[in-house]
Amino acid sequence: MDQKHVDKYVEEKQTLVRLAREAQQRGISYRGFKVGCALLAFNGQEYKIFQGANMKPFKQGPKYCAEGIALGSAQAEHYNFIVAIVVAGQPQSEYDKTLHPCLECVDLFLGFRLGLDTIIHTICESDQKPTEEFLFVDQLHNLTSAMISLTKSRESNPAAF
Ligand SMILES: [Zn+2]
Repeated sequence: MDQKHVDKYVEEKQTLVRLAREAQQRGISYRGFKVGCALLAFNGQEYKIFQGANMKPFKQGPKYCAEGIALGSAQAEHYNFIVAIVVAGQPQSEYDKTLHPCLECVDLFLGFRLGLDTIIHTICESDQKPTEEFLFVDQLHNLTSAMISLTKSRESNPAAF
C-alpha cells in the first residue's frame, strides 16, 4: 500500500478507534452482542471515515455486520479504496483476544476487492483491553490454516463430523 495511506491511517487511528467504539454502542442485538466499525476510505482524492453498527434485532432475523454496513456506505459514496478497518466488539471465545471479522465479512471483503494489505485493527470497548492489528492477507492465511486442519481432522476421524 502507498505510504501516504499508511501515514493517514496512523494520523487518524485514535479517531477511528473512538468512532468504532461509539458505533458499537449503537449496535442492535437481541442478545446484547454489539459490534461497531469505523473504516478509513479513499476516493482517489480525499479520505473519509465511515461508521457501521451491527443489526440483529431478533434471533431468527437477518444479520447485518458492522463491517458490511460501513463498507456499503463507503461504496454508496464511491469511496472504494479501503485503507483500514477498525472493529470494536467482544471476543467470542476465551481463546480470542479480540473480535475478528466473521467468515461472511471475509467473503464480502474479497468481493469488495479489499487489498491484501488493508489494515484490520480489532479492539475491545476500552483501552485497558487487548487490541490486535494485522493485514487482511494474515486473516486469510489464518482461515486457510484453520480449514486445512479441520479437513485433516475430518479425514483422520470422520465419525466425529
Ligand atoms: Zn461479519
